Amino acid sequence: MSLRITIRCPHCEARAVARSSQKMSDTMREITYVCTNPLCGHTYVAGLEVLRTLSPSAMPRRGINIPFSPHVARELLMEQLQLI
Ligand SMILES: [Zn+2]
Repeated sequence: MSLRITIRCPHCEARAVARSSQKMSDTMREITYVCTNPLCGHTYVAGLEVLRTLSPSAMPRRGINIPFSPHVARELLMEQLQLI
């Protein structure tokens, strides 16, 4: 499943189109959006950021530290406690 991620214009709530994106870090991109409402014309930058891990990578890379979602961290802690 794939989703086209967008965020509606915060002023007129019309659909917006991504015009460009720029990598800011391994976990953050900035995306420039243009409102499709010709009466509005708002151009704005939004952020896309990796926030939490739901399932850990099988190929972890040094320097990438993404916190576990609280419920996942709790389940991992419970599993580790049962191994002791
Ligand atoms: Zn707009």
